[in-house]
Amino acid sequence: MTDTIKTTHPVIANPQVTRHIMKAFNLRAAKKLGQNFLVDAGIVQGIVDAAGAGPEDNILEIGPGIGTLTQGLAESGAKVTAVELDKKLPAVLAHTLEGYDNVTIVPGDILKVNIPELMGNKPFKVAANLPYYITTPILMALLEQHLPISILVTMVQKEVALRMIAQPGSKIYGALSVAVQYYTRPHIAFDVPPRSFIPAPEVDSVVIVCDVREKPAVEVKSEKMFFRVVKAAFGQRRKTIANALKGAGFQQEDIKAAFDKCGLDSGRRGETFSLEEFGILADAFVQK
Ligand code: SAM
Repeated sequence: MTDTIKTTHPVIANPQVTRHIMKAFNLRAAKKLGQNFLVDAGIVQGIVDAAGAGPEDNILEIGPGIGTLTQGLAESGAKVTAVELDKKLPAVLAHTLEGYDNVTIVPGDILKVNIPELMGNKPFKVAANLPYYITTPILMALLEQHLPISILVTMVQKEVALRMIAQPGSKIYGALSVAVQYYTRPHIAFDVPPRSFIPAPEVDSVVIVCDVREKPAVEVKSEKMFFRVVKAAFGQRRKTIANALKGAGFQQEDIKAAFDKCGLDSGRRGETFSLEEFGILADAFVQK
């Protein structure tokens, strides 16, 4: 990982520059918006490198903050579209990113904007230091929409990243693990200590890279049923999968028929099921 961003502009990913910007614009990091600004140029460059960002790329950034990661992405020559919820920040970004004509700042909520329209209905990459209070909803929204994303490189809480890559049988394997692995091949790229941010978060962070699969990991008859079964299985994870399904509203006779049909053991817990097994079970509930 290099420690430089090759810019003629002042590098924002630096504690002094960040404090100066915050003071000049009278900004306080808003905890409720998950604002922890990166102040480590090596980490910014690590994200840019992990995304393989270059002039041919269209990149969606979620939550540019004061423009720290945006600057690194812009320096790669990529076309960057950055969606920021905090109404105070577009004016700040107009100043900190002045002169980068490859950056577009879009005020708004990433969970509400029309992403395909925003990205010109073209393939794109995602890079973000995500607000931790809505990491899972953001990742799920991006994945479930089947957007033409090739790779997602995101800073997340370490504990969330470990759940994203968890395997069957582990205590932290859950609906998030299944969903992320169904759509992508995830791996942790590197750890990021709290001191890399202002203010320092109370948790450890990592950058996780999710290479989006061309086709989901398992072929299922109904994606809706697949995720209904997965959600039910982990809704009451201490129960057997049959009881968990019943608790989630599946009919007893349908559960029995599905297990008779697919040959899987209804006495196992959902947390022991692989993606393939969830696929087989879900297909057994579909009348086709
Ligand atoms: N990218 C900057 C950096 O690395 O220093 C800031 C990252 S900070 C962890 C998360 C950013 O996401 C904040 O700027 C916050 O205002 C913004 N944010 C929070 N919720 C959002 C939402 N729903 N849509 C878009 N941006 C959001």
